Amino acid sequence: MASLLRSLSVLLLSLACFLPGLLLHEWLHLLTFQALGEPAHLLITSWRFSLIDLSIPGLHVAADHATGFDQLIDSFAGPAMAAIVVFTVGSLLPWRLLRSALFANVAALEFFVLVETLDAALDLYRGSAYPWLASPELDYGAVLLIFLAAAAISGLRTSRPSAGGLNPPLPPTRVRPE
Ligand SMILES: [Zn+2]
Repeated sequence: MASLLRSLSVLLLSLACFLPGLLLHEWLHLLTFQALGEPAHLLITSWRFSLIDLSIPGLHVAADHATGFDQLIDSFAGPAMAAIVVFTVGSLLPWRLLRSALFANVAALEFFVLVETLDAALDLYRGSAYPWLASPELDYGAVLLIFLAAAAISGLRTSRPSAGGLNPPLPPTRVRPE
């Protein structure tokens, strides 16, 4: 029961931390473009699924005239810097459940580093990327899987007895010969 509660808490906290993490990630995209001297804007877009006929609102930072190389740097730097910030905050917190949730968000941001950098690199070197790489089902599906895995791992860690368990072994006693 304790492990199930712990898993559920980590899952809910991971989901709750996702939006602040996403805002930080997008803000760092903006900051990177600014540092590169590229004017950019944060837009709320209509984000289309690639497998079904459905759109959801999405956040997207678009530069006015970014070159492919600047876009590649920005695609890497936004989520990578956000992952470093969230990891640092998570490492400093004493609450284990929140720390686990923040580390799950670091893993999600690392996934975004991979997928966004690959998307920009394909666009730069091939002239086009795969549309499913930037689709909501891949991005949010992967994030959900990462959060579920983090929740399951947290539950398993609770159900496993800690080193020594409830009855730690007694130190060896020396018997002196009479
Ligand atoms: Zn991004």
